[in-house]
Amino acid sequence: MAVINLTLTDEQRALRDGVAEICKRYPGEYWRALDAKREYPEAFVDDLTKAGYLAALIPEEYGGAGLGITEGGLILETVHAAGGNAAACHAQMYIMGTLLRHGSAAQKRAYLPKIASGELRLQAFGVTEPNAGSDTTKLQTTAVRRGDHYVVNGQKIFISRVLQSDLMLLLARTTPVDKVRRKTEGLSVFLVDIRHAKGLEVRPLRMMMNHSTNALFFDDMEIPAEALIGEEGKGFTYILDGMNAERILVASESIGDGRWFVDKAVAYSGQRVLFGKPIGANQGVQFPIARAHMAVEAAALMRNKSAALFDADEPCGAEANIAKYLAAEAAWEAGNACIDCHGGYGYAEEYDVERKFRECRLYKTAPVNQNLVLAYVGEHVLGMPRSY
Ligand SMILES: Cc1cc2nc3c(=O)[nH]c(=O)nc-3n(C[C@H](O)[C@H](O)[C@H](O)COP(=O)(O)OP(=O)(O)OC[C@H]3O[C@@H](n4cnc5c(N)ncnc54)[C@H](O)[C@@H]3O)c2cc1C
Repeated sequence: MAVINLTLTDEQRALRDGVAEICKRYPGEYWRALDAKREYPEAFVDDLTKAGYLAALIPEEYGGAGLGITEGGLILETVHAAGGNAAACHAQMYIMGTLLRHGSAAQKRAYLPKIASGELRLQAFGVTEPNAGSDTTKLQTTAVRRGDHYVVNGQKIFISRVLQSDLMLLLARTTPVDKVRRKTEGLSVFLVDIRHAKGLEVRPLRMMMNHSTNALFFDDMEIPAEALIGEEGKGFTYILDGMNAERILVASESIGDGRWFVDKAVAYSGQRVLFGKPIGANQGVQFPIARAHMAVEAAALMRNKSAALFDADEPCGAEANIAKYLAAEAAWEAGNACIDCHGGYGYAEEYDVERKFRECRLYKTAPVNQNLVLAYVGEHVLGMPRSY
């Protein structure tokens, strides 16, 4: 039975403290400098990898720590609460689940230990396309079997960390949509070694924040047939399988952001004295921060519930979606309260508030936008009519 612990265990506390110790070596200046140049946080990701934190969810038999999503979330939350951005490396935690659950024994043996040790990076996840967007089953990238390999053609948009990864999990159509019974069939997942891929063009996109995101163009890219994960045509269900983990982990990042904003706002509004008293004494300043804190705490409880269910192998689709939604909204509310209480300084780069504000906004849109979460809750949780 799933149990929600209201306090951290000693092991979890040690885990959080270990991550926080690494984060201390990467203060605001570090993230700010990279943000200005839109550069990948190589040193930070290397340190987290070497310390084993990115392999937290990989089973011990493959060289990982064999921890649960609760601990994975705690790691990411801690990075964000310290002012960093784990988006640079979070995908490994949820993508590798597809390989773990659906990969062959040979694929797991070949890749998981190297991913755990950091020898290989699996940080790229190629799903979104310009003509499909959130309507994933309409994706147009095809992978056609020719002898002992597949030939991939098409394009993807907003695919992050391709230039920083060795491997990419790719979703492509292997059977045309008019030849399958349901549009969710005929899609397949591949674990692509992108280090030497020919026929793959990567065009970096400059985004609102530092996110190493790209447009991808596949022009007869050949991949060996062994790159297929699981059964051909079942890829969509494999990707769906990983979504609860993704939602819980992303919710954890938002919760970390929310905590950072609240701490920063409390500290600033306590020391900024105007009209003879700290601005935090004014209810117009204090209440939005208190409200944001309550929203972050509530979202954290729902995240804890979804993580506890996930770790107990119980259904958690509703809870994971609700956690992602509430956490993204709470972080955004906290970000606004933090900007407001900082006045003009909230817009000054050296305070990091504007950077975190830009970074936290993403989770209202990706990996799934808030409207689709509402549609999920309306349809699947409340039994209301399907809207799309
Ligand atoms: C920085 C960044 C990094 C990303 N990284 C990756 C990545 O690594 N891999 C990857 O595959 N993707 C990635 N994405 C893509 C991301 O997952 C998508 O942007 C997101 O899923 C939304 O798709 P879209 O942009 O095509 O918007 P659309 O699907 O076009 O949606 C646009 C708007 O329409 C609304 N909408 C659409 N359909 C409905 C509906 N039925 N009901 C109500 N409202 C609706 C949505 O709320 C949304 O606001 C990334 C995006 C960003 C911005």
